[in-house]
Amino acid sequence: MDTDDTVVAEATDFADTVRSAAAGWDRAGALPSAVVAEAGAAGLLARDLPRRYGGAGASPEALGEATARIGAVCSSLRALLTVQGMVAAALARWGSADQRERWLPALATGARVAGFAATEEGAGTELSAVATSIEPVGDSVRVTGRKQWVTFGATADLLLVIGRLGGAPAAVLVEGDRPGLRREPVRGQLGLRAAQVAHLDLDGVRVPRSHLVAPAGFGLSHVAGTALDHGRYTVAWGCVGMARACQRAATGHAVDRTQGEVRLADHQVVRAMLGRGHVAVTAAEQLCRHAARLRAARDPDAVAGTVLAKYAASRAAAQVSRDAVQVHGAAGCDADSLVGRFLRDATVMRIIEGSDEVSELHLADHAIRAHRRRDAATPTTPVPVVVPS
Ligand SMILES: Cc1cc2nc3c(=O)[nH]c(=O)nc-3n(C[C@H](O)[C@H](O)[C@H](O)COP(=O)(O)OP(=O)(O)OC[C@H]3O[C@@H](n4cnc5c(N)ncnc54)[C@H](O)[C@@H]3O)c2cc1C
Repeated sequence: MDTDDTVVAEATDFADTVRSAAAGWDRAGALPSAVVAEAGAAGLLARDLPRRYGGAGASPEALGEATARIGAVCSSLRALLTVQGMVAAALARWGSADQRERWLPALATGARVAGFAATEEGAGTELSAVATSIEPVGDSVRVTGRKQWVTFGATADLLLVIGRLGGAPAAVLVEGDRPGLRREPVRGQLGLRAAQVAHLDLDGVRVPRSHLVAPAGFGLSHVAGTALDHGRYTVAWGCVGMARACQRAATGHAVDRTQGEVRLADHQVVRAMLGRGHVAVTAAEQLCRHAARLRAARDPDAVAGTVLAKYAASRAAAQVSRDAVQVHGAAGCDADSLVGRFLRDATVMRIIEGSDEVSELHLADHAIRAHRRRDAATPTTPVPVVVPS
């Protein structure tokens, strides 16, 4: 097997071993710490990193398909892959040589759990409004602010915090055991219930100045930009996994269950839902593969292609999970229902890493720019010169 096949096969095997436990984690509101270690040992984390940092050098398509296999079983475990990958990608691209050597292998093995702390009360969609201050003090910087909704914020050992240094957006690494960091776990949120989300108070947390990632001014556009692009990509594939699982469950249930001697699948209205689901899943898969090809080719359209894939895949997951709950009836509303859990998780996916509405604006801008480029490239028809007789 080549590397890419191995990466997907390992994720598929791991998904099989945890399939029956995922509903319990969702109810308990946490992934067992042993599972995080096992995910690292099974080679699930930061697979696209180069081998020298503990990754597998996986292609974008293999990374995506592996993420979909986990996403089809547990969105919270998929979120671990996403966050670990986001912070690793940002450090691999913008971190110093020391930061890369020190942190990347630990992220790839799961020895350190990462958190990406950008959102604040006044800065959600509009991250340029972040107010967390990063203030130089001798050889250190002092970080002060409140971050909200940090996935794995309750347990993360290494936080990539976005703030401002001298007024410019900046990114800094904060270890989870630094004095002045207080965690406030979020419980019972709509989705990603086992992803140990927390709000964080940073009260003058001091870290060495060498923990700054890239110069001040690059924190949002470059460091957070790389992390969010990577996160969007794996969220998109995770949504493909959810949508596939819900479509499979809905089809199986519709074929197996009979009411009044008629199979559910023999009602045209039920078949229509299955047909629409098939279209949504196939389209989402194809757009994710398209994004993978753009990323592999380092195409300038890769960022927009990733927004497109995430937009389509999260909507597909939301649509197919909603219809799957409908087809399951009361069984879809059961506390342990996979399709019910994915309906809640998919709703969150339409908000995080760029909400539907913000994605639409981004995609419209992209479409308009492409239109203008095409117009500029079209040779204009020569105007006939009319010679007066
Ligand atoms: C379970 C969960 C996990 C999360 N994990 C993390 C994490 O790990 N790290 C982190 O930093 N954050 C995290 N977040 C926060 C998440 O990134 C934000 O919720 C998201 O960016 C939206 O910000 P907001 O909630 O403040 O919504 P707002 O910015 O207030 O937006 C609310 C809605 O208004 C509309 N809207 C807003 N702005 C625009 C616009 N410019 N154009 C058109 N419509 C607009 C959209 O419909 C949007 O959904 C998480 C959130 C959840 C629920």
